[in-house]
Amino acid sequence: MTSALKIIPPEEWLTVSSPPMIIAGPCSAETEAQVMETAYGVASLPQVKIFRAGIWKPRTRPGAFEGVGSKGLKWLQKVKEQTGLLVTVEVANPRHVQEALDNGIDILWIGARTVVNPFSVQEIGEAIGGRDIPVMIKNPLNPDLKTWMGAIERLNRMGIEKLIAIHRGFSFFNRSPYRNAPMWEIPIELKRLYPNLPIIVDPSHICGNRELIPGTMQKALDLEMNGLMIETHINPSKALTDKNQQVTPARLQELLSKLILRRETDNSEFSHKLEELRSEIDKLDEELIDILARRMKVVEEIGTYKKVNKITILQLKRWNELTRDRIEAGIKMGLSREFILKLLESVHEEGIQRQIDVMNRDEP
Ligand code: PEP
Ligand code: MN
Repeated sequence: MTSALKIIPPEEWLTVSSPPMIIAGPCSAETEAQVMETAYGVASLPQVKIFRAGIWKPRTRPGAFEGVGSKGLKWLQKVKEQTGLLVTVEVANPRHVQEALDNGIDILWIGARTVVNPFSVQEIGEAIGGRDIPVMIKNPLNPDLKTWMGAIERLNRMGIEKLIAIHRGFSFFNRSPYRNAPMWEIPIELKRLYPNLPIIVDPSHICGNRELIPGTMQKALDLEMNGLMIETHINPSKALTDKNQQVTPARLQELLSKLILRRETDNSEFSHKLEELRSEIDKLDEELIDILARRMKVVEEIGTYKKVNKITILQLKRWNELTRDRIEAGIKMGLSREFILKLLESVHEEGIQRQIDVMNRDEP
């Protein structure tokens, strides 16, 4: 059972000239000059009202730059005073919350590695202690809507009503052009369950590289998401973290100017459903390709085995049995005989070719 969230909409606590809400700023605060130059760059864009910068950086593996720490809070105070932008940092524990509150940070965000842990979310909520500060909650690393909802509900029950969800994609093992699979069906379902909860999309962490960002930004708007968080750095190629996905303020301006703001269709139910189904197809095709590739690897292993034991490639009896068996299984699942046969023949043909290659390969 999902009970309604009590949300104060961003329009009531943030003056955005016109939607979508844009958050920009570097992945990490690195130096005062880098922070200030980036801040001045994005402050000149009328759509940007919030400046982000990570000062405590959660790194998946140790040994890399882990953020400048508390001294970065002073730089953010300066950004606030000199540009008028609101400032936001990632908090992962009660100490971060306390320091952020003590230093006038306007908005907190909880990162993907922290949202997975309800104990951490609880402690962060307790440290906020009823203070009136907006909190943005990224989706957890794993594609688990319930954990994401749980973190949002937990903070909401603790009295935090200025809440925003951030969709930053999901960790996954398969190869794909994305760093974190967007799995749009998950934020769409969150929107369906909590229509009054604003959702911002973070194309930088979804894409992991600059090239994919424009398409993902547009897609977010076409799916009626409420805003975008774009990692922006004065000199991306020199960034200490996430250098492949950051853009300069000038490039951000260009990207924002190219966004097409379509009118909301009164048929959003339809487009969401369609998107959900397409997303499902994308995932299944990915699995299908993965399975076919794995099958071919096994076929090659068999080829090696046949070569060593001097057995011929085509084993007609086995092929006939396999075809009969698969057609029968396919028919039970509602697939036609012709379709299965065509598919098997194509797979078999490729398999034979692989085995011929293995047979003809010279031994190392
Ligand atoms: C970030 O925003 O820089 C960050 C660490 O993001 P995430 O928690 O989504 O990985
Ligand atoms: Mn980052």
